[in-house]
Amino acid sequence: MKGDGKRESEAPSQPPSLGLGTRAAHVAREGAPLGPHGERSGTAALYQTTNYVYDDAAGAARAAAGQSFLYARHGNPTTDGFARAVADLEGAESGLVFASGMAAISTAIFSVAGAGAEVLASEGIYGGSTDLLTTAAPRFGVRARFVPAWELAAVEAAIGADTKVLLVETLSNPLLRVPDLRGLAALARARGVTFIVDSTFTSPCLVRPLEHGADLVVHSASKYLAGHGDVVGGVVVGREAAVAPVRKLRTLLGGTMDPFAAWLALRGLRTLPLRLARQCGSAVALAAVLETLPGVVRVHHPSLPTHPDHARARAQLGAPGAMIGVQLADGAAARRFYDRVRVFTRAASLGEVVSLVTHPASFSHGALPPEERARLGIDEGLVRLSVGIEDVADLEADLRQALGA
Ligand SMILES: *Cc1c(COP(=O)(O)O)cnc(C)c1O
Repeated sequence: MKGDGKRESEAPSQPPSLGLGTRAAHVAREGAPLGPHGERSGTAALYQTTNYVYDDAAGAARAAAGQSFLYARHGNPTTDGFARAVADLEGAESGLVFASGMAAISTAIFSVAGAGAEVLASEGIYGGSTDLLTTAAPRFGVRARFVPAWELAAVEAAIGADTKVLLVETLSNPLLRVPDLRGLAALARARGVTFIVDSTFTSPCLVRPLEHGADLVVHSASKYLAGHGDVVGGVVVGREAAVAPVRKLRTLLGGTMDPFAAWLALRGLRTLPLRLARQCGSAVALAAVLETLPGVVRVHHPSLPTHPDHARARAQLGAPGAMIGVQLADGAAARRFYDRVRVFTRAASLGEVVSLVTHPASFSHGALPPEERARLGIDEGLVRLSVGIEDVADLEADLRQALGA
């Protein structure tokens, strides 16, 4: 047990032969003995503490040397437990948790890219990541360029001498394009580029990017991992050699996760495979229904044969995800749909137990100039659905009535 988050890199405590659903349901139950007969808590312990108390000077010296817990910004048993749990599900050697997905992404990028470096990022990544790379990173001498990462040749042509990081998402936002992770990993490795994959839209239930050659996997735990819309958090996992510099920078930048957020996220994580299975199943059904409804111009979901990455999604993802893009006639039709839904909730974010609807042209991509939005295919008439765990018949009925079908 080491103070500077090293505990997070211990080997998973579950036998790796158990399935993902079993491992998720059983996360973080290895509490310290509570009574004289060694009984333990059935759930993770919440250590809501800033510091740790030592018996003597030798104990304090051990903590200062990184051999035991020192201070909660460096490490905490509850936050370390969440890191270990996600690392286990991702098949990673090490995991680290953060105050938010953006803290995870920015710390991971800047642990690799310093002044003079370039980040090659996919088009259609999270708006906050785009903003980080276009407005904040240049102030620290880090430049960014954007390419459609689902076109391997475009990425190959774009990698330059200064490219240090390739950042992609497993499903783009909101058109759900699917980059070829194995192909990109091979390109990145050949050119000495660190390959960072944001797997927020998929979670380890649908794809484990480290198995495809990613160097680091990042998550916004605020979405599927915690899953209940009550936590903001982030995760980075990878080999210890890749995670170590991220850990060092996290301790300095200070984007550590709060223990209670980790406790809530651990609680949510236990039902991740169950939630994802239901959400993806409902999304597949709803995408097929939506294609038949009046007023729907186009449905973007990788389960549909009309999706440009349908075949790749089948090969690469265990399920096609629970996000759907729905193209309606125009901005007025999209706003009318948005105003009319009753079971879908009008809110930002995604990956919660409740179904959510957003209007990307107004929200996530609202800051982009209209020409850039058009180039990226984010039309005024596009709405984005995050399918939750409600009864699919209720969701379908809601979509029908909101479309006036
Ligand atoms: C939400 C999100 C983020 C940012 O995560 P926060 O927890 O909100 O900071 C990053 N990437 C993707 C794909 C997201 O959806």
